[in-house]
Amino acid sequence: MNFRTTSARNEHMAPTHDHRGCVDRALRVAEQLCAQREVRLTPIRRKVLELIWESHRAVKAYDLLDRIKPFEQAAKPATVYRALEFLMEQSLIHRVESLNAFIGCNCSEQRHEQLLLICERCGNVEERMGVDVMTAVAKEMEQAGFTLHRKAIEIHGLCAHCRTAEGGA
Ligand SMILES: [Zn+2]
Ligand SMILES: [Zn+2]
Ligand SMILES: [Zn+2]
Repeated sequence: MNFRTTSARNEHMAPTHDHRGCVDRALRVAEQLCAQREVRLTPIRRKVLELIWESHRAVKAYDLLDRIKPFEQAAKPATVYRALEFLMEQSLIHRVESLNAFIGCNCSEQRHEQLLLICERCGNVEERMGVDVMTAVAKEMEQAGFTLHRKAIEIHGLCAHCRTAEGGA
């Protein structure tokens, strides 16, 4: 009987918190922000956002397409890409360049840059403001006379949860 193994794996993959709260909060903030900005959070945009928020792992566009099909049979890749474009413009999600995937943003209310900590074991991506890091990077760019278009730093490694599970540290 492999119940133990299964539950251990599920526990490992599962968030260590009440994730429903994250999802509810993200959707509520998205609704508020879109209303304030007078842009439309259409049902498909909302659904894509909700699907991205299924976990803290980054999601690929083609996986989203698969997941959205049961709800929106007519959904085409272009439908999903347009929804993703919109959500990125509104800073409700971020593209994780190094994975070519997307995560939900948990601080969309404020203008911010992204410091993304990407776990190579469980795939969780933690977004941090990284104010000190970003200030240091800005200084380097200034010294180099470099003009900023977009600032995001992606770091790959093991999250605290996986590090503990591995028996390290
Ligand atoms: Zn969560
Ligand atoms: Zn963000
Ligand atoms: Zn991890």
